Amino acid sequence: MFDYLIVGAGFAGSVLAERLARGSACKVLIVDKRPHVGGNAYDHYNEAGILIHKYGPHIFHTNSREVFEYLGRFTEWRPYEHRVLASVDGLQLPMPINLDTVNRLYGLNLTAMQVDQFFASMATPVEPIKTSEDVIVSKVGRDLYEKFFKNYTRKQWGLDPSELDASVTARVPIRSNRDDRYFTDTYQAMPLHGYTRMFERMLDHPNIKVMTNTDYREIRELIPFREMIYTGPVDEFFDYRHGKLPYRSLQFKHETHDRPQFQQAPVVNYPNEHAYTRVTEFKYLTGQEHSKTSVVYEFPCAEGDPYYPVPRAENVALYQRYKALADATPHVHFAGRLATYRYYNMDQVTAQALTLYTKLSGVHHLKRAGAATERPHGRDQTTVNAATSTPPSRASVSS
Ligand code: FAD
Ligand code: UDP
Repeated sequence: MFDYLIVGAGFAGSVLAERLARGSACKVLIVDKRPHVGGNAYDHYNEAGILIHKYGPHIFHTNSREVFEYLGRFTEWRPYEHRVLASVDGLQLPMPINLDTVNRLYGLNLTAMQVDQFFASMATPVEPIKTSEDVIVSKVGRDLYEKFFKNYTRKQWGLDPSELDASVTARVPIRSNRDDRYFTDTYQAMPLHGYTRMFERMLDHPNIKVMTNTDYREIRELIPFREMIYTGPVDEFFDYRHGKLPYRSLQFKHETHDRPQFQQAPVVNYPNEHAYTRVTEFKYLTGQEHSKTSVVYEFPCAEGDPYYPVPRAENVALYQRYKALADATPHVHFAGRLATYRYYNMDQVTAQALTLYTKLSGVHHLKRAGAATERPHGRDQTTVNAATSTPPSRASVSS
């Protein structure tokens, strides 16, 4: 009898498996319908011997020391600060928009002080700021909005920025200095030997059994377990009872080129041309040296694997109906980006999983101390739901 069946071996599922097994001596079965662990962060060596991220570029960054140190138990880190260029008006310019972006785009020679005045003169006041259009237009005005954000967002989401929550484009700051890093988090690093190696070390424990190529629906009636942790799409769990929750998908086109370098930056964004949004060259991310180089193009689409929850009011309202079902489902705990319908980065998912573990471990601690009644009678006490737990604080965990 397993204490936990964990559905999904991405960050949410693997962190919980690791903690429950090592921290609480639980017996855990973790299943994933894909042929590998790591979820969307899975990486592997391609036929040319280059380390690539199968599901698009994954760059680790966090302000949470707790998350960084926790994951650091399973990997060494390679310091890495991410940089992005955006292809606009025939130029490749720093993104996020900064002082150099503005000077090069408009042929100006502004100082940091002057660029703030420049932004203010271009900006259109919007009150209150509700949408992804409002965020940018109110800071830098329509021209920069249209060149850098409008079409990228329409491509990525199939929606106009005016139809998306402010939080989406607010992920990308506007800077009046020359800082051209994509992130400014305290901890920015890549797992030295890749994400998959890190996941393998997390899951390497006698109390953890890993089954890949397995949909949990194939085994849930066959293998006994006490509690379930579910990290797949929440609407699918409930057979779409309230209708489908929109998730945005991507198609990835991987290529290897017979030259050491393909482009001028780790990622080049194409807001206005092409059907793809961005091109990533993996060797920048991994630091690998190789005579060839591998890149990936991301083509957004509506159908396919669910990658992004779509942050807008009507979807949040639909999610709340699923959350009510989740809250009322005993012995199942929902965690992760798809199961709690949150546009979370890896560190936020890790923090959310650690928070859920803290709640669950309280119950195991009581049980071991003999204070809890034996299951199944004591089971209801363990009914904790990540969706109801406090989300990781924005102050301590990066967005
Ligand atoms: P997932 O990784 O999606 O894992 C869920 C797992 O559940 C999947 O492996 C799935 O196969 C499995 N599953 C679902 N249903 C079933 C079922 N019925 N039976 C069995 N298994 C099932 N974050 C960052 O911090 N930095 C980045 O640079 C970054 N880049 C990203 C780029 C892209 C293109 C995408 C899509 C995401 C990116 N993210 C990034 C976000 C990051 O991928 C997520 O935060 C993180 O991987 C979520 O982990 P998770 O465990 O919640 O979900
Ligand atoms: N975005 C944009 N232009 C860019 C980069 C980002 O319009 O050059 C918008 C777009 O809506 C995107 C969002 O900002 O989906 C968040 O960007 P981020 O790079 O964080 O996206 P992710 O890496 O999660 O795909």
